[in-house]
Amino acid sequence: MTRSRYSCFALLVALLPPLQAQQRPSQSGVIPFVSVDTSLVALTHVQLVDGTGAPARADQTVILNRDRIQAVGPTATVAVPANALVLDLTGYTLLPGLVGLHEHTYFGGVRRFTEMRLSAPLLYLAFGVTTAMTAGSRSPEVELDLKRRVDRGAIPGPRFHVSGPYLDAAAGGPVNRVGVTTPQEVRRVIARWAEQGATWFKFLGGVSREVLGAAIKEAHARGLRVTGHLCSVTFTEAAALGIDALQHGLITNSDYVPGKRPDECPEANMKAQADVDLASPAVQASIRAIVAGKAAVVSTLGVYETFDPDRARLDPRALEMLAPETRKEVEANHVNLAQRGFVVATPLLKKMMQWERMFVAAGGLLGAGSDPWGTGYLPGFGNLRNYELLVEAGFAPEAAVQILTLNGARILGEDKRVGSIAPGKLADLVVIKGDPLRAPRDIYNVVTVFKNGIGYNSMRLRNAVKGKVGIE
Ligand SMILES: [Zn+2]
Repeated sequence: MTRSRYSCFALLVALLPPLQAQQRPSQSGVIPFVSVDTSLVALTHVQLVDGTGAPARADQTVILNRDRIQAVGPTATVAVPANALVLDLTGYTLLPGLVGLHEHTYFGGVRRFTEMRLSAPLLYLAFGVTTAMTAGSRSPEVELDLKRRVDRGAIPGPRFHVSGPYLDAAAGGPVNRVGVTTPQEVRRVIARWAEQGATWFKFLGGVSREVLGAAIKEAHARGLRVTGHLCSVTFTEAAALGIDALQHGLITNSDYVPGKRPDECPEANMKAQADVDLASPAVQASIRAIVAGKAAVVSTLGVYETFDPDRARLDPRALEMLAPETRKEVEANHVNLAQRGFVVATPLLKKMMQWERMFVAAGGLLGAGSDPWGTGYLPGFGNLRNYELLVEAGFAPEAAVQILTLNGARILGEDKRVGSIAPGKLADLVVIKGDPLRAPRDIYNVVTVFKNGIGYNSMRLRNAVKGKVGIE
C-alpha cells in the first residue's frame, strides 16, 4: 500500500515539466538529479523527527515554500495550499538535512590519496548531508572551487564550509600539512586562507599551546572557527584557549595519557585511552573543563569502528561505489586489519561511546562527522553509520538525530538557518522509507533529499558515482 503510494509520487514527479531550465540556467548541472522543484510542496502523513531532540511525531505535514519551510504540524490541522504539489509520505520518516562536521573531499589513508571532486559531493547529498564542514583540506584550492561549483548549481552537493589546509607543527605528509611554529606564522596562514574563503581551521596533533591560542584569537577576530584532532595540546588546555570543536572525542583526549608533557604528543595517545577509568575524577574534571570552555565535541565513532578487527565490516553498498583498483586495496587492507599498526579494540570503542554519553549528560554540545577513510568508509554512508552507533551508545534515536543535525548547526553557528524542521528555516530535509527509530538500519533508505527546497533523487546521485570513488 505504502509502496504504491510512493510509486504514484515517483510517477507524478516524472511527469513534471523539467524544472524551469530557462529561468535557472546556473542550475543546469543539478537538473538530472532533481525530482522535485515546485515552489509549493506539501509533505503529508509523515513521521517527523524535527532535530531538536523532541519525540518523533506521527502523521505530520510539512509545507515547503520555495527554499523555506513554511508550516509544520499534524496533518489534520495544517492547511495544504490549493496549488501545492502533495506528496503522501505514509510509511516514511522525515529528518532535517544532516550537518556533517568532519567531512573530506579526498579519499585516502590506505594506499592512495585521490580527490573525490565528483563522488564526495554527490554521496554526501545522496545520504542526506546538506551541510558539510571539511575538517582539514588536503587541497584547499580544489575544495574551495568545489564549494563554489556546488553553490552556483554546477554540481549537486551539500553546503560546504571549507576548513583550509591541515595545520601542524611540521609540514608535509600525505595530507599536505602546512607547518606553523610561531604565532606570526599561523596568523599569516589564517589571513591567507580566510581571504580565499576558508571559514574553519583544523589543527593536527603536534601544534603547541602558543600557536593554537594565537590561531584561535586570529580566527575569532575574523568571525572564523578552529577545530583539531589534537594530541600535544590536551582537551582541557584547548578548551581553556577557546577552541570551537574537538574532533573524535575520548580517543584523542590526551588529558588521560600517563606522563603527558606540555606541548608534546605522547606515543601512547589513542591507545592509552583504552585504560581510562571513566568513573575516575580525572575524567569528570576533563569533561567539566570542556563544557566550561564551551568547546563542542565531534563524534566520529563510525570511522574508528573500521579499525576494530572484531567489528569492522565492509559495506557492500559502499564497496560498489569504489573504482575497481581502489576496491582491491580496500579489501586487501580489510583482510589484514588486525596486523595493521593502528587498531581500535572493541572495549575502547565502547568507552568512546560511553564518554560521549557522559559529555552530553554534563551539558556538552556533541555533533558528528563521518571522516571518510581508505578503510572503505565513505561520505554519506559514514554519516548514517554514526546514527546507528549513537543509538547503540544509548542515545534515544531523537537525540542521535539531534547530534547529526541541530547540534551540528549550532557548532557551525548556522542554527538560525538550518538543523531542524521549523517554519522559516531553509527547506533541508531527508525523506527516509521506513522507520529508523524502531529499525536503525532503515536510516540508509534515503529516497529524496531536499536542499534549499529542491528535492534530489538519492538513487540517481548514487548511480552517478558508482565505481568512481578513487578516480573522480
Ligand atoms: Zn579527518
